[in-house]
Amino acid sequence: MPWASEQVAPSEAVAQPPIGTALLRGARGRCPACGEGKLFNGYLRLVDECSHCHAPLGRIRADDAPPYFTILIVGHVLVPIVFVVEKAWYPPMWLHMAIWLPLFAILSALFLRPIKGAVVAWMMRLGLTGTEQGAQIVAPAPRQAPRDA
Ligand SMILES: [Zn+2]
Repeated sequence: MPWASEQVAPSEAVAQPPIGTALLRGARGRCPACGEGKLFNGYLRLVDECSHCHAPLGRIRADDAPPYFTILIVGHVLVPIVFVVEKAWYPPMWLHMAIWLPLFAILSALFLRPIKGAVVAWMMRLGLTGTEQGAQIVAPAPRQAPRDA
């Protein structure tokens, strides 16, 4: 199914998948529109467009939302466990730091990518594809090497 954001007649717009389907596709690292193409080019960089349906995925700016939701989720999973361990065994602070800091870092790194995929899918469903204010994508000017004075 080709991406249809450029169509002018609303009756001709291609139906997008249900929000749950789009979120799951994004969380799996697949194009939220078709579920076939890859969403990421690397760990967190989005592909410019879907290789299957040509949805302009690279224009979607998730900004700080994925880290926010990652911290929210990982914090709510681990902080109660930290409190339970502290209350039950009173381990020394160095042991808390040796266990919890790496665990927070590892879980955050594991959660960040699927959460970013889901956020991008959510933004697509909301129509926040980077063109909502008529913004044109302009490639930055190439950097010039400093000249000798
Ligand atoms: Zn696609």
